[in-house]
Order: sequence, then C-alpha cells, then structure tokens
Amino acid sequence: MLTIDLSGKRAFVAGVADDAGYGFAIAKALAQAGARVCVGTWPPALGIFQTLLRRGKMDDSLQLGDGGKLEFERILPLDAEYDVLDDAPPDVRDNKRYKDQGDFSIQGCSDRLRADFGESCLDIVVHSLANGAEVNREMLATTRRGYLGAVGVSAYSMVSLVARLGPLMRRGGAFLSLSYLASERVIPGYGGGMSSAKAALESDTRVLAWEAGRKWGHRVNCISAGPLASRAASAIGREGPSEAGEKGKSFIEQMVDYTRDNAPLRESLAAREVGAAGAFLCSPLASGISGCVIHVDKGYHAMGKAVATPVGS
Ligand code: NAD
Repeated sequence: MLTIDLSGKRAFVAGVADDAGYGFAIAKALAQAGARVCVGTWPPALGIFQTLLRRGKMDDSLQLGDGGKLEFERILPLDAEYDVLDDAPPDVRDNKRYKDQGDFSIQGCSDRLRADFGESCLDIVVHSLANGAEVNREMLATTRRGYLGAVGVSAYSMVSLVARLGPLMRRGGAFLSLSYLASERVIPGYGGGMSSAKAALESDTRVLAWEAGRKWGHRVNCISAGPLASRAASAIGREGPSEAGEKGKSFIEQMVDYTRDNAPLRESLAAREVGAAGAFLCSPLASGISGCVIHVDKGYHAMGKAVATPVGS
C-alpha cells in the first residue's frame, strides 16, 4: 500500500493561531502522517491560542483519525516581519504581547529550535501566514508603506525562513508556502499589495527551489489554495464586488460562493483537502517535485468564463 509516512520527521508550521486556517489543517495532516509538529504563532494571537488549547476548546479539531490527539511539540512566538530581534522597533518590543516572549524573530525561532533539538532537527517547514494592513484598499489607493509591508510580511518572510531554517533541515527537506489566485488573475477586493505579495511568493518559490536544491538538497513548493473563511480571510472586509446582489456578504463569503458555483468540482473546498495536498508535497512521495505552484481549488483556476449557475440548479 502506498502511504504518506512522515514518522521520524519534524515539521515547523509558521502561522497557526486557531483551528480554522490552512496552517492548522496542514499541521494536522502532517501529524496524521506521523510527523512531530512545532508551530510558530504571531505574538498578538498567542495568548488566545494558548487559552483555547488549555481550555480544551479545540479538542474536537485536534482529534486525529487513528484515535490520537494532535499535540504541538513547541508553540514558538513568531513575528515574521522581523528577521532578527534588533529589527523590531522599541514600541513593538515593549508591547505587552511581545515583551515577555524572548526573541520572536525568524532567527529567534531558528535559534530556539536548534537549542531545543540540536543541529539537523527539521525536515519540513510550512509558511502559512500573510498580512497586509491595507488589504481593503484598491491598488491605486495603496501607500508605498502598505504595499511594501504586505510584501515584506507575506513574501519576503518565506525567503528569510528558507535562509534561516534551511541549515537546520536534514538533507531532502521540504518547504511549502500558501498562495492565492490573485497572484495571476485580478480579484477585486484583494488589495493593498497582497496580490503583488502572492506573485512575489510564487516567483520566489522557483528561485528558492533552485538555490535550496543546489545548496542543501531541499525542495520548495507552493499551494495556490481556493478561498476559505479563515480568521485572516474573514478580516478582509465587506467592501468587495457587489454588482450581482452580493451586498452584505464579506469578501471571503462572496469568493467561497463564487468559486463553488463556477469551479469544475461543485462543492466548497475544505481546509483538510489543502492539508492532505500539503502533507503529500512535504513527503518523500513528492521527492521529484520542486519549484511548483500547485492549485488546490477544486479546479477553479482552469476556468476562463464564469458560468454562474448556482450549485443545486
Ligand atoms: P489563518 O488566519 O489561519 O493564517 C494566517 C496566520 O498568519 C494567522 O495565524 C496570523 O496570526 C498569522 N500572521 C499574521 N501576521 C503575522 C506576522 N507578522 N508574523 C507571523 N504570523 C502572522 O488564515 P489562512 O487564510 O489559512 O492563511 C494561511 C495562508 O493561506 C496565508 O498565506 C494566506 O494568504 C493563504 N491563503 C488563504 C486563502 C483563504 O481564502 N483563506 C486562500 C489562499 C491562500
């Protein structure tokens, strides 16, 4: 039987703060396949995440298919805006959500993993985070600061992760990031430079695959996922397109409905489907795949014309 076997492997998933997003779904699939999983969590979301875990509010989601329970080996504070702690300005370092966290930079995560588990301690790194302060603004209204901020947190952070965690990974390691179709097609409402950040992330996937492949033998891939009403996506606002009677729905609700109605496969994408694809791409079964952006979106990316026949009709 051909199975995804990640036993003996350790993964670090950056961008998990609840059980609703793609990072959690990938972490769960990796654990289901036998990997030990550490996560990196944005300091402003860390307290509530730890409280939810402690109070058992996520116990159902943490349940694994074999009767086991997903236990995170480490939950590290991570603000992917900063490569080293000195990059963080004093108001961030003094902020109550940051000041007792130690080194929350990308280098800080790398140092903690090395201190706790030694050299050559990692096999899989997943980048499942994005942030754009001006995501609700159209591109023509986006400031330089907002645009560069979105690209820095959402795309450069992947470059930094590969550079700083690559040396900690055993040969044949796998990196994975998450993109969205707005990198290649116009998605009105996904603004503030976020579409540019995703385009950069996808382009960087190819260059990083080349460099990390030659340097360490690691693979680098990206999943372009369909829309999901995660916490991050639900913050995108209610100012999206509203011509087709879509008023009152948030951007992400509109995109979930629209994609389901127009995709070849006529049901909404589930996070676990992205989790399964992620586990495959990070497994030895995908040892021949690197530098790829793979659509996991029920086939929606292949469409060139909206059919607009609602599901059920
Ligand atoms: P999510 O809320 O589960 O994940 C986003 C995470 O990013 C959160 O945990 C948040 O705390 C973290 N984050 C924000 N700023 C950060 C920072 N500076 N440092 C570290 N972490 C930070 O939501 P999601 O939608 O599952 O997003 C995960 C990835 O999937 C993102 O790259 C997103 O763009 C991508 N994606 C999402 C969709 C969608 O429709 N939800 C579609 C395609 C791709």
